[in-house]
Amino acid sequence: MKMNCAQYEEEFSSYMNNQLTAAQQVEFEQHIAGCEGCLQELTAMQQVWSLMGDMEVPEPGAHMEVKFEAMLATFKQSVAEKKASFSIKEQFARLWQWQPKWPLAYSFVIILISFSCGYWVFKGSTTGKQDEQLQALTSQVHELKQTMMLALLENPSASERIRGVSYTSEIKHADKEVIDALFATLNNDPNVNVRLSTLDALTHLAAHPEVRQGLIASIVQQDSPLLQLAIADVMLKLQEKGSVNSFKQLLKQKDLNPGVKDKIKQTITQLI
Ligand SMILES: [Zn+2]
Repeated sequence: MKMNCAQYEEEFSSYMNNQLTAAQQVEFEQHIAGCEGCLQELTAMQQVWSLMGDMEVPEPGAHMEVKFEAMLATFKQSVAEKKASFSIKEQFARLWQWQPKWPLAYSFVIILISFSCGYWVFKGSTTGKQDEQLQALTSQVHELKQTMMLALLENPSASERIRGVSYTSEIKHADKEVIDALFATLNNDPNVNVRLSTLDALTHLAAHPEVRQGLIASIVQQDSPLLQLAIADVMLKLQEKGSVNSFKQLLKQKDLNPGVKDKIKQTITQLI
């Protein structure tokens, strides 16, 4: 039975991994030699693969490398098979569970950035169909960054959590999941430095109305003088008059630091 182009495309990854039988390989190569469409598609895929192959994996433990390679292999395969709904995000989430104290999380961001750059460079020379694929990949990379950031926020180490917070700047369109996670961190993280970094990250997202509302609601939840002062500064910077009532409520707290009290009174005066 003669195979059609779609069926040959399914063999791309096997071909590139030398997993075809000798007979299959001969047939495959014969088809490619005579089919412009498949040849282009195959060349494009080989380019993507070589981009991935060039990526440096910055010194993860041997253990980790194996897992990452396995993940990448699955990723490549998924791309090759053009699965409608493959979710590398889930795989990543699983990896995080296996290795919650993964120390080199940031290397993955570097890798992902090179991923994205690679795809953009590559994108310039592709046709419509591959364009779609690449767009899907780009959005997967975006999703991945987000997953990584969310996972880092759960990390037991405060410095890793701060790193997670700082990744927010990588995320172009912070969605509800990210914003919720940041507020959970701002309002509940045991570490003051993590909360301060989170406040900073959220300030950069203040164009979102729900972020402003969340910040205002957070005023009375902060019990650290450092945070109370910082959030007063943020509200001044944003000229957020909606925060006045929350500050007035904060002033009612009995054990409020005297320095904070002065600053809050001043803030209220400057806002109204
Ligand atoms: Zn073909």
